[in-house]
Amino acid sequence: MTLSYNWLPTPTQTRNVPVTTSPIYLSETGCPIYPQYPLAKLTSFKVGGPAQWCMNPKRIEDLQAGLIWADAEGLPVTRLGAGSNLLVSDRGLSGLVICTRHLRHTHFDPDSGQLSVAAGEYLPRLAWAAADLGWSGLEWAVGIPGTVGGAVVMNAGAHRSCIADLLVNAHVLSPNGKLEILTPEELAYRYRTSMLQSDSRFVVRATFQLKPGYNRADVRKLTREQMHKRRTSQPYHRPSCGSVFRNPTAHTAGWLIEQTGLKGHTIGGAQVAERHANFILNCGGATASDIFRLIRHVQEQVERNWQLRLEPEVRMLGEFQHV
Ligand SMILES: Cc1cc2nc3c(=O)[nH]c(=O)nc-3n(C[C@H](O)[C@H](O)[C@H](O)COP(=O)(O)OP(=O)(O)OC[C@H]3O[C@@H](n4cnc5c(N)ncnc54)[C@H](O)[C@@H]3O)c2cc1C
Repeated sequence: MTLSYNWLPTPTQTRNVPVTTSPIYLSETGCPIYPQYPLAKLTSFKVGGPAQWCMNPKRIEDLQAGLIWADAEGLPVTRLGAGSNLLVSDRGLSGLVICTRHLRHTHFDPDSGQLSVAAGEYLPRLAWAAADLGWSGLEWAVGIPGTVGGAVVMNAGAHRSCIADLLVNAHVLSPNGKLEILTPEELAYRYRTSMLQSDSRFVVRATFQLKPGYNRADVRKLTREQMHKRRTSQPYHRPSCGSVFRNPTAHTAGWLIEQTGLKGHTIGGAQVAERHANFILNCGGATASDIFRLIRHVQEQVERNWQLRLEPEVRMLGEFQHV
């Protein structure tokens, strides 16, 4: 497919550097691509500078067209779902950010008990939709504010369950347009990670095996209890990325941070949460640099006390060397 777009650089414009606030439109699909798009709007931390270009495809064709455009322009591509596990640099990101949260489609197949969903579907909404049908298996996901795409990449999990337990397959799109169906084995799942984290392919769809035929009221009750448990033990009232660090084997990261006396520690507008020490909160006006400095401070202090370096679970995007 050949693509063109109705935007031509004037002689004074440098290639790829947006000089307008108006979007350009991919002529094949009509999908807009926005210049200098503030990524703070797309991340749960509510921080981060602008994307040089940003698009929100609603269909796979839009995504494919965006990838072709980025390739033709020589732009790097960044993948973003609900932005609930990301720390984006205050300096923003060069290239094209493609946010898949608007790729939506859900199909519950009663014969197989399988749920087939597009990458942009929101996990809490799916957990409630499954509960309303009396399908068990997704109750644990109700408090995870991410999309299916991000969850498949991160192997999201809670309450001793995770995506790898349910996934039948994931449909992924390569930058060269190739669509593949990958099994959990091919995704090399481990604790909060998959091989797609260090990959350039997009998750566009996933299939999960659930258990139909339960009493709706029971599944709804369990889902409600999971949500309640999280809301009372975790700070949902301020912007965050959930758990900042992966849990090491002997102790939880939250316990180690709490024992180091860091609850409530603040840098700029960023604070180690009082309610759960593995959360860092944007208490208003935090920058990505504040959060980054606090992450580094926590790592240093915990290492000094416990001779153990905490590994971030949050994915950091962009430049932080200047911090
Ligand atoms: C309050 C709160 C509570 C949380 N609780 C939990 C929890 O209990 N358990 C847990 O595991 N996580 C938790 N998280 C973290 C986060 O919600 C999960 O990691 C979630 O799976 C991330 O999904 P996302 O769509 O937001 O992905 P993003 O944060 O947008 O991206 C995460 C990674 O996936 C990649 N990605 C996103 N979409 C795609 C796609 N379509 N194709 C390819 N790559 C893609 C990104 O490049 C990035 O590397 C919590 C976060 C918050 C804010």
